Amino acid sequence: MELITHFIDGQEVESKDNGRFDNIDPWTREVRTEVALGGPAEADLAVAAAREAFDSGPWPRMGFAERGQILHRLADLIDANTHELAMADTMDMGKPIADSSSKDVPRSALNFRFFADHARMSSAETLPMDSGHHAYTRFESAGVVAAIAPWNFPLMLETWKIAPALAWGNTVVLKPAEDTPHSATILARLAREAGMPPGVLNVVHGFGPDSVGEALTTDARVDRITFTGESNTGRAIARAAAGNLTPVSLELGGKGANIVFADADLESAVQWSIKAIFSNAGQVCLAGSRLFVERGIYDAFLRRFCEVADALVPGDPKDPATQLGPLASAEHYTKVRSFIEGVAADGGTTVMGGIGEGWTVRPTVVTDAPADARVCREEIFGPVVVVTPFDSEAEAIGRANDTPFGLNAMVFTEDLSRAHRVSALLCAGTVWVNCFFVRDLRAPFGGVGDSGVGREGGNFSREFFTEPKAVVMDIRSEARR
Ligand code: NAD
Repeated sequence: MELITHFIDGQEVESKDNGRFDNIDPWTREVRTEVALGGPAEADLAVAAAREAFDSGPWPRMGFAERGQILHRLADLIDANTHELAMADTMDMGKPIADSSSKDVPRSALNFRFFADHARMSSAETLPMDSGHHAYTRFESAGVVAAIAPWNFPLMLETWKIAPALAWGNTVVLKPAEDTPHSATILARLAREAGMPPGVLNVVHGFGPDSVGEALTTDARVDRITFTGESNTGRAIARAAAGNLTPVSLELGGKGANIVFADADLESAVQWSIKAIFSNAGQVCLAGSRLFVERGIYDAFLRRFCEVADALVPGDPKDPATQLGPLASAEHYTKVRSFIEGVAADGGTTVMGGIGEGWTVRPTVVTDAPADARVCREEIFGPVVVVTPFDSEAEAIGRANDTPFGLNAMVFTEDLSRAHRVSALLCAGTVWVNCFFVRDLRAPFGGVGDSGVGREGGNFSREFFTEPKAVVMDIRSEARR
């Protein structure tokens, strides 16, 4: 059986104590590979390698163009290995292969290309001063970055963190989620092939609490911690990082509101709303899991929404025709099932869907749920949507903002003034109007409230992964004499 190893200091290595854990294919529910089980010892080795590569190696000392060339080569290698990378994520967590190969892997390559170019083009800012002084800002590499990733978009979210970290000259220790280790080790091999020096990108596998993950968050040699995952894990990591005052970036959970006004293009709103909740079997932080529909179109919208949801093709995620795969793990399936089983007791009605075979969940639509029902308040992270009618713009905004989360929201309307007005009033890091998940990598990405701390993307990633330094010079030669 294949073993997925750590990747430390340019080498594929097992754990010191030879510990391993099983990697389970959520479709077959069988053990597919074994994975090296890291602990504090592996975190220590990986951080030491990253520290040495940062303190004495060539990576932070290269020019942006030379580093950029290596990152572009890595992007090309990602493209050339699309099938292997896509299959790794698909078999690790059940994402349909059509999505992993046409969306996640190309976006991962783009992450490297974008940040390589962005860093080269934005490496300093000049601030001519009226006083006759000249100030400029240098964006210097921060040091060793610990990147801790979730399982729902494994390669895509890992590269979203490590691409800017590397482009800005940092070295990285990546800990992928325990359910999705495979693509990270392949990526590290490709980085070596692209010419990345040893110790610049390290990968350690294992769990979070009392394991390799936690060890990374308490290590004083780590200069930045970038984390994507659950809000409660984010709290634990912020507490751990506080000991060393290590800056953290936290991309956390969501409970996205999707507001459809009566003047919206109904068919377009239905299609986007379907994507917003059923893509990746609802295992999306940005999922539009609370769908608010203006009463005048509520019945027509719901009818069409259920029709389209019913036509989604479930099945083996390795089949290119599949649109809805299994949930990622037994543990996650059990969690989502408990939400569905609790709907009736909370006063809601399940109008379609429910539990399927194995670890699958059918597209599930819930109505009549009171605002304090668990399905309305907590992140389900599955293909479960709660649909609620509303009567006024103010009511829709009030309901949308009635959540501790604030990652994103969607608005469907043909009224331009309303689109701007409502977007301004929604508490969310991103508002999509008449669309969903359309990204410009320069734009800020992140959440308010329980959805996170900080922003990623373009200059926002630059702020986090660098130590900006101000240099102020007196350029008045006569005044200095
Ligand atoms: P999770 O919090 O369980 O785990 C994420 C990672 O953290 C894993 O690698 C895990 O091993 C590690 N970890 C857990 N406890 C740790 C600890 N104490 N110290 C260090 N590391 C620890 O999250 P998940 O279940 O993998 O992912 C799903 C969650 O991620 C959802 O809440 C989802 O909304 C969120 N998410 C957010 C975004 C975003 O951009 N805001 C994107 C994707 C997913």
